[in-house]
Amino acid sequence: MGIRNENTGLEHEQYTPDFADYWDHLVGWENREEGEGGFYERLLAASNCETVADVACGTGYHAITLAKNGFKVTASDGSDNMVRKTEENAKQVGVDLESTKTVDWVKLSKDLGENTFDAVLCLGNSFTHLFEHEARRDALEEMFKVVKPGGMVVIDHRNYDSMLEHGYSSKHNYYYSGKGVDAYPAELNRYLARFEYVFPDGAKFQLKMYPLRQDYVSHLLEDAGFINVVRYGDFEKPYDRDEVDFIQQVAYKP
Ligand code: SAM
Repeated sequence: MGIRNENTGLEHEQYTPDFADYWDHLVGWENREEGEGGFYERLLAASNCETVADVACGTGYHAITLAKNGFKVTASDGSDNMVRKTEENAKQVGVDLESTKTVDWVKLSKDLGENTFDAVLCLGNSFTHLFEHEARRDALEEMFKVVKPGGMVVIDHRNYDSMLEHGYSSKHNYYYSGKGVDAYPAELNRYLARFEYVFPDGAKFQLKMYPLRQDYVSHLLEDAGFINVVRYGDFEKPYDRDEVDFIQQVAYKP
């Protein structure tokens, strides 16, 4: 676990087959659906989005839920293991995805096409896996390219501001709501959040993350060319900056 590719600086190599198998226990799809309360469906419908690319699909929760709700969803991820899991899960629940593909964010426009989607989603604290400013800038530029003019991007990340300023506490309401799964930062500073996940059977994993500040992500979105950045906290607006666990940043391509 936690092996970083020194050539690319990317962190998705952390998602081993083992971790992918445990991931769904960690995520707790039903709790997640309850916690999100149809937020993404409403957001996408409000902007008349039909075609959606979930570019960090993981095991497929959002891709599959959105496809179930009538959106045309392409699911991609940098990890082959995760894409295979998404395919298995889609098959299991009888949902058709438009396509599934293993794609690193740096190759999004080449592999998914330019001006292709009404919305690009990068959810579940995925963007945190990039450790260099330049890699984050390049990834957002790629996301910008694949969105149609007038379309939107959504980045969802942990509320690291509150963790860095006040220490870690989580209501565990949203993403890491698997029963009996303990998720906590074993190491936390301005440059690194190393989270440990302990499963009820004693299995232990760790993921290294970059603690993204909210304002920084908004500025990155604007630097990539997106406009009208709107932020939600735990799917609501306005929100208490210190209290919420996750931040959803929504921005538009002019
Ligand atoms: N969105 C899913 C969810 O909410 O359940 C998965 C979240 S998981 C925390 C992060 C995902 O981001 C992993 O599946 C990982 O493979 C993917 N990822 C990390 N870096 C990536 C990159 N550079 N390109 C594409 N995917 C990447």
